[in-house]
Amino acid sequence: MADPTTSGGYPLAEPGLWVEQVGSRVFAAGSPALFLDRDGTINVDTGYPDDPAEMVLRADIAEVIAAANRAGIPVIIVTNQSGIARGYFGWGDFAAVNGRVLELLRADSAFVDMVLACAYHEAGSGPLAAADHPMRKPNPGMLLEAASRLRLDLRRSLIVGDKEADMEAGQRAGLSQGWLVDGQAAVGPGFTIRPWCDRADFDGLLAAIAALGAVSGAS
Ligand SMILES: [Mg+2]
Repeated sequence: MADPTTSGGYPLAEPGLWVEQVGSRVFAAGSPALFLDRDGTINVDTGYPDDPAEMVLRADIAEVIAAANRAGIPVIIVTNQSGIARGYFGWGDFAAVNGRVLELLRADSAFVDMVLACAYHEAGSGPLAAADHPMRKPNPGMLLEAASRLRLDLRRSLIVGDKEADMEAGQRAGLSQGWLVDGQAAVGPGFTIRPWCDRADFDGLLAAIAALGAVSGAS
C-alpha cells in the first residue's frame, strides 16, 4: 500500500487535502459553481472504493455535469476519503480511482473543473489523524477553499450529494440549496434540501443549473 502521507507528485495542499484543477477552463470571478459529492453521487458507492476497474457512473449524473458545462459554471468534486486516514488505501489509489471517474465522465461529454478530497479522520494515525477536521464534510472547508481559489459566489452555488453531511457542508458554506440523492425535501434556515428521487427532481435540478448560466450571462 502506498504511503498515504507522501505527496509523490500529487496535488496535495497539505498531507490530507487534495486540491486539483482539472483542465484549463477559466471562470469569471463571482460565478456560482456546481459542487458534487463523489461516491454515491457521481459513481456507485462500493464502500471505500480503491479499484478503478470497479467504478460505474450513476444514471443521469453525466447529464447534470454536462448541464453545468453548458451553463458555463465550474464543476467541483468535494469528497471525503477517510479510507486514506484509516490505511485502507493511499493517495495513489485515490488518483487512479478518481482518474477513472473523470475518464468515464469525459466519455459522456461531462467535464469536471476541480477536485478536492479530504483524507483526515479521527480514526487515522500520524498527520491524517484529526477529529472534526475543518476540511471534512459536514464541515464546509473544501467548499470554502474552492470558493477562495475560484472567487465563487457561494450563495448562488448548488451542491448534489447522497448524505446529510453533504447538505450540511453546503448550508454552512453559505449555499442556498442542495439536492439529496434518494433523500427527502427539507427547508432550513437559509437552505433548502431538494430530493433527487425521480425524473421530475432531475428535471428540476437541470433547470436550476441552466438558470445559473442565464444569470451569469454564459452562452
Ligand atoms: Mg457520498
